[in-house]
Amino acid sequence: MMDVKKALEDSDNYLMNTYNRFPLVLRKGRGMKVWSADGKEYLDFVGGIAVNVLGHCHPKVVVAIQKQAQRLIHVSNYYHIEPQINLAKVLVEHSFADKVFFCNSGAEANEAAIKLVRKYAKENIGTERFEIITADNSFHGRTLAALSASGQVKLQKGFEPMVPGFRYVPFNDADAIKKAITSKTAAVMLEPIQGEGGVRLPEEDYLSKVRKICSMNNLLLVFDEVQTGIGRTGKLFAYEHYGITPDIMTLAKGLGSGVPIGAMLATGEVSSAFKPADHGSTFGGNPLVCAAGLATLNAILEDGFVLDQCRRMGEYLIQKLNALKEDFPSIIAEIRGRGLLVGMELTKECGAAVKACIERGVLINCTAGNVLRFMPPLTVQKKDIDHLATVLEDVFERMS
Ligand SMILES: *Cc1c(COP(=O)(O)O)cnc(C)c1O
Repeated sequence: MMDVKKALEDSDNYLMNTYNRFPLVLRKGRGMKVWSADGKEYLDFVGGIAVNVLGHCHPKVVVAIQKQAQRLIHVSNYYHIEPQINLAKVLVEHSFADKVFFCNSGAEANEAAIKLVRKYAKENIGTERFEIITADNSFHGRTLAALSASGQVKLQKGFEPMVPGFRYVPFNDADAIKKAITSKTAAVMLEPIQGEGGVRLPEEDYLSKVRKICSMNNLLLVFDEVQTGIGRTGKLFAYEHYGITPDIMTLAKGLGSGVPIGAMLATGEVSSAFKPADHGSTFGGNPLVCAAGLATLNAILEDGFVLDQCRRMGEYLIQKLNALKEDFPSIIAEIRGRGLLVGMELTKECGAAVKACIERGVLINCTAGNVLRFMPPLTVQKKDIDHLATVLEDVFERMS
């Protein structure tokens, strides 16, 4: 067994310093729980950042990965791949989309979307059209084009020049999109609910207004559902809440229960702009990750239980957090969320609260500086939420 102190030292010595890591080595997980190398148990409300939709090491996903690993792990996309075909079929049958492209992450899915927008727009909307309007405070990933699309200067700092072709507008302001349209605009790209930006919900008619603006101006609408997709908000995809469909959608986080897989989905019309050799990925959609994706989707879609549980537990979590807000009005500013993507905005930075929760055996996340973000497995139970609430109460009591 690796000594924890040694592991932390080696981590410093051998890994690039790109994450503000907690001094915690996680070794094992089951359902809602993870265990550290020194044997402590934690209740996990981070869920790999909205990745572990079925909890850690769900038996159906584990068996699917084991079986596929024995049969075939990887072959080139120059050949047809059965699990990839099957996963694409399930995604198409349960979404607005007609075609799927597989890659390995959320950022890559957005890169694929950006390339598809440019190719489609040049060929079908106007040869000068390549600009994409995105939202302030948005997050689309860390690769250069995805970072350029992200409306957060603090993430871009030091990596300039950004990829040209993005214009930023305030989220929840449909008129601002109208005003930002130029003769170069090709698309609007949004997260239906901003995740990293602090769990910012769209106003009730915002997304339908944006859809209308795009349709009237012959622009594509791209939804980045990397965080909101795969059941996170109580429906398989967040756009289903708003009575509209995008032209392109990107997925990743929850799609493979933790194996690296991303997907970019589009209507048949828009997809047709991609021709052989326009885009590709060595690992994208390989047999192993698609088997995991297929097991994940099948478990979610099987009987509707998972999505039901997500909606019920999301409401229960919000109710419990609102009760805490009544008790600690000087610490808690607002609770907001949909399904099991829930944010609690504090009146101060939330680093200390996260640390205090870890000390009490509960993992939670802090985003946008002062927003505690909860994104547990969709299978979380009442008793887990009750325990979280008890721990938070203790933490806030000490803070106040
Ligand atoms: C996490 C996230 C990404 C980036 O995904 P990676 O897999 O880290 O590249 C992109 N968009 C949204 C909305 C995300 O939440």
